[in-house]
Amino acid sequence: MLNTALNILKLIEDNFYEAYIVGGFVRDYLMGKKSNDVDITTNARPKDLIKIFPNANFDNALYGSVTVYLNGIRFEITTYRSEGSYLDNRHPDVVSYVDDLKVDLKRRDFTVNTICMDKSGKIIDLLNAKSDIDNKIIKTVISPLDSFKIDSLRILRAIRFATTLDFDLSLEVKEAIKQSKYLLKNLSINRKKEELDKVFSSPNIEKGLSLIKELGLIDVLNLTNINKVRPCSQVIGVWTVLEVDDVYPFTRNELKLMKDIRCSIKNNPLSFETLYYYDLYPCTVAGELLGIDKKQIMDVYNEMPIHKRSDILIDTYDLLDYLQIDDGPIISELWKKIEKAILNLEVVNDKSKLLGFARMLYTNINLSEEDSNEAEAAS
Ligand code: ATP
Ligand code: MG
Repeated sequence: MLNTALNILKLIEDNFYEAYIVGGFVRDYLMGKKSNDVDITTNARPKDLIKIFPNANFDNALYGSVTVYLNGIRFEITTYRSEGSYLDNRHPDVVSYVDDLKVDLKRRDFTVNTICMDKSGKIIDLLNAKSDIDNKIIKTVISPLDSFKIDSLRILRAIRFATTLDFDLSLEVKEAIKQSKYLLKNLSINRKKEELDKVFSSPNIEKGLSLIKELGLIDVLNLTNINKVRPCSQVIGVWTVLEVDDVYPFTRNELKLMKDIRCSIKNNPLSFETLYYYDLYPCTVAGELLGIDKKQIMDVYNEMPIHKRSDILIDTYDLLDYLQIDDGPIISELWKKIEKAILNLEVVNDKSKLLGFARMLYTNINLSEEDSNEAEAAS
């Protein structure tokens, strides 16, 4: 990753522009951590970059940023710019390009994100980033109150970095977050969700949760159930406990999954029936939330006589043929009872046993229908 990144810097510099790796990648590199992508800052404008990287993605060129994929790695190349005025605490209304790296670094969120590396791998540290990385402290580049006013997303980014990097927030940053939290009301719910997802999926989630509480953000983030949250290896488990299905954006699949996890919790994820009706994944998440070992759930799952309808050794044609009846609502009633009986080990999953059992069920259903008809007639 580093070599590919340095080659990109060389390529830009061969075209007589400056370029540096900036922010996350260098910060993580110094900490011996892996990064997912690389941010590059340059004085080349998007119109210049298009000549160097004709295959780059220019969708965000208007905001001074182009994306290049090389060797499967994502590079976000952004032109030096100064802090513009912001329309809505988030989007700059104009992007003002500048020619000086230091001016670009000053518009960034936190000092630890201003660290750079040049094409020879040398660290360039114009704003004391290295000492803040060493001291594991998050400080804003400008005054935190001004910084959060310019972009309220930085409030959540501060908590996210403190959580994922296991850094502390400086006292000034904490104080400013307490005073500026109302700005989060105007931040798009998608951006909030993106940052919270990173906090909740971190192994260090406890730190994020305690910062949200300590800084008084529970109400503005609608996280009323936060005290019920326990660390969960699956972020969807955390959202399930928070019960904010109507507040934050989720896909249909996620909404269904959260419902199934809740039902699994209610119905005991260690029962054959729960595992059958809600499936293994929701039950393992439910199990984790209840403190049940995944292995225990897997053992129960492996003992199940059936895992899905098609595992049952008779089909609807067998039923219709054996009972000599036409298809109708009674068939789905029979199927439900047969499934349940197999799962409760009341009948073995064997063709002749199942057909005999179906005959008995069918007779009982008919008898009880006759009884209720007679009762109706009598009344
Ligand atoms: P990671 O990639 O691990 O999430 P990162 O530090 O690389 O962390 P990105 O979101 O990729 O963060 O942003 C790249 C860089 O752009 C940051 O390091 C920071 O310098 C700057 N940056 C990103 N978002 C903001 C923001 N809201 N305000 C100011 N600067 C920002
Ligand atoms: Mg990054």
